Amino acid sequence: LKEFDIINHFFKRPSLSDSDSLAIDSDLKESVVKSIGDDCAILSVPDKHHLVLSMDTLVSGRHFPDDALPAQIATRAFCTCLSDLAAMGATPCWFTLGLTMPQADIKWIAAFSESLLGIAREYQCELIGGDTTQGPLTITLQVHGVVEQGKSLRRDQATVGDRVFVTGCLGDGAAALALINNEAANNTIEIDDKAYLEERFYCPQPQIQSGLKIVNHSRCGIDISDGLLADLQHIATASEVSLEIDVDKVPISMACKNLVGDTVALSCALSGGDDYQVAFTVPESHLLSLGKLIQDESIVATEIGRVTCAVERDNDYNVRCFRNGEPVMIDDVLVDDKGYQHFAS
Ligand code: ADP
Ligand code: MG
Repeated sequence: LKEFDIINHFFKRPSLSDSDSLAIDSDLKESVVKSIGDDCAILSVPDKHHLVLSMDTLVSGRHFPDDALPAQIATRAFCTCLSDLAAMGATPCWFTLGLTMPQADIKWIAAFSESLLGIAREYQCELIGGDTTQGPLTITLQVHGVVEQGKSLRRDQATVGDRVFVTGCLGDGAAALALINNEAANNTIEIDDKAYLEERFYCPQPQIQSGLKIVNHSRCGIDISDGLLADLQHIATASEVSLEIDVDKVPISMACKNLVGDTVALSCALSGGDDYQVAFTVPESHLLSLGKLIQDESIVATEIGRVTCAVERDNDYNVRCFRNGEPVMIDDVLVDDKGYQHFAS
């Protein structure tokens, strides 16, 4: 098969907006002027919105195991990329695909494209172009979303007095990676926990719906991809504030605790990464309204700390951990036993 045949057969589909089964926002319906097939795609951004975009590259053997299934790779690539849009409070609209493959393995491409277009359709995000090349298996996705002007969630918008929240549970991504890499081989694990953690790794749920609710109560958010403390540090630096986190409030799943034990689970949650949840800050004036959303279960989020002052020295904006109101050294919380060293970086 030639490159054009691959594209036309496996990646070119009727526009999502031509399908009546999807309730796409009417402004977005006419947004794809030109899709796959010309030199460029042409898109129109709805009035009073900004275009928000982000790119991620996954390299075989580095970002996913060499023996991962095409469906798993497609889902993970798409979901992790979409997580960045979620953390900006954006609505996903379109994406492009850079696909580098060692050879044109039709079965592989069929499974990959079916999964990719399937999950993209669930999020009403349309493939509008890309590039196909030969080389070591590498997937690059660029996702495009829109956000109402002035309503995005940015790292530099935390203010002193805000409370810090996270969506979902943290630590699952790192625990799942240990499981997949057989680093937890000595630990026993229940079938249900195994399935739950593998699902978290290959199908992390981008917090799009949460993001769209959070934008009504916050101006500041980040997706948790490098680990909670590292990602909160980005907020601290960009917003020129310090953050205090109560480590005992950090939400951790039973599956994660069951697999690695409570102490390592906390390390996974604080520094493990790959969770693709959203950390965000909420000003006092919005605490009640956000609390209602949490109570109604329209969003799963937990308060874990607060934004304190800007600190003593210039550029010394940092994240501090507390336990029972007492400061704890981060190095005392992060375990470094054999097999889990990568959690403590
Ligand atoms: P050009 O030579 O102008 O760069 P290409 O041959 O790379 O064009 O691509 C032809 C068309 O197919 C373009 O519209 C491009 O966006 C699309 N395309 C190429 N590869 C992919 C892919 N992997 N997924 C989706 N669209 C693709
Ligand atoms: Mg090209």
